[in-house]
Amino acid sequence: MSDWSALAPAPGALPLAALAQAFVAALLLQTVLELWLAWRQRRHVLRHRAQVPAAFAQRITLAAHQRAADYTADTVRLGMWEGALSALVLLAWTLGGGLDALNQALLRWMGPGLGQQLALLLAFGAISALLNLPLSLYKTFVIEQRHGFNQMTWALWLADALRAALLGLLLGVPLLAALLWLMQAAGSLWWLWAWALWMGFNLLMLWLYPSWIAPMFNRFEPLADQALEARIRALMQASGFKAQGLFVMDGSRRSAHANAYFTGLGSAKRVVFFDTLLRKLGHGEIEAVLAHELGHFKHRHIAKRLALFALLSALGFAALGWLLQQPAFFTALGVRPQLDAQGGLLPQAHNALALVLFSIVAGVLGGLLQPLWAQLSRRHEFEADAYAARHSSAQHLAAALLKLYEDNAATLTPDPLYARFHYSHPPASERLARLGQQGQA
Ligand SMILES: [Zn+2]
Repeated sequence: MSDWSALAPAPGALPLAALAQAFVAALLLQTVLELWLAWRQRRHVLRHRAQVPAAFAQRITLAAHQRAADYTADTVRLGMWEGALSALVLLAWTLGGGLDALNQALLRWMGPGLGQQLALLLAFGAISALLNLPLSLYKTFVIEQRHGFNQMTWALWLADALRAALLGLLLGVPLLAALLWLMQAAGSLWWLWAWALWMGFNLLMLWLYPSWIAPMFNRFEPLADQALEARIRALMQASGFKAQGLFVMDGSRRSAHANAYFTGLGSAKRVVFFDTLLRKLGHGEIEAVLAHELGHFKHRHIAKRLALFALLSALGFAALGWLLQQPAFFTALGVRPQLDAQGGLLPQAHNALALVLFSIVAGVLGGLLQPLWAQLSRRHEFEADAYAARHSSAQHLAAALLKLYEDNAATLTPDPLYARFHYSHPPASERLARLGQQGQA
């Protein structure tokens, strides 16, 4: 603590106490907002549990509706625990002195340098992952199990965890080492180079993920259905999508949840159906879901999100470049920086600390931006639905979506405010209402 008070406020320095208060205030605001929204969602869903909403009364049974309500109530309650605990963990890392203690211990053990900084990032990542473990296990083996979704065995879970950790190390260590090296060696514009590296890495992942990474965890096979093939090929040609791009994934190995998605860049892009979804859908419905995914492709949604991500990342790295020079950034967040005789920051000694602290702060601020991101995503979903209505069938897509909702025990009666903040897809009632209009047009 003595180092903190010895820090003479340089002209133009950030007021320390105010900064620490602003961080705590933002974290508190985000957590309280999160808990309040979740509480609203749970209350809203349970209040509407007794009756299937009129718009769905013909197609959804009361039993399925109540199953969805119970599953939603359970997952939302778990989410509230997650939110509260993660806020406590962040406070412990920062103002509680956790990160400072970890940094000092590694300094004593390894001495200063690039190796110590890399070790700090890895240790922070490993400890965070371990802290996440109990709730993640509880979600899979208690909640998903209770509602009949879990298909994982402990052996498969362990194998997945080991594979993911190994992959994370193989990809993460070179990235972080290169990032730290740029921060050290690339001069005052290091953040621009770091941003370029970061975007390159993300593009590479987007390209590697569908054909290299995802197959390490699941089997992907081309859709083998002669009767469907002609319809699918026609649809893909109409949107200009490469014809080999439709795959079926063995999602049933881990979970009974059903889904379909579109991912990848360039020649690596593909539409993926979970086997769990395919089993439930008729030919017309499969075609309509595929048309929805092709709608994402045709409207260039991945590219648009990537552009926004690139812009936000650039702002983030520029901010980090500036914060890295401010002793108050570290002290306000509970870390003792290494100072020279004049009370300035020892050059190059804080790069890893800055990365960790910045990721914490960005996470808190990003949580407050969540509704904007969700809004954009819902707009994209509506666009993809409209594309499917034009090029396939609105009725078939609506029927497929309803099966998807029922199968996943997704609630049909979310709290409107919660949905506005968190839903990446529009609520069922809005989506089906719009498809209903498009079907008549
Ligand atoms: Zn979609």
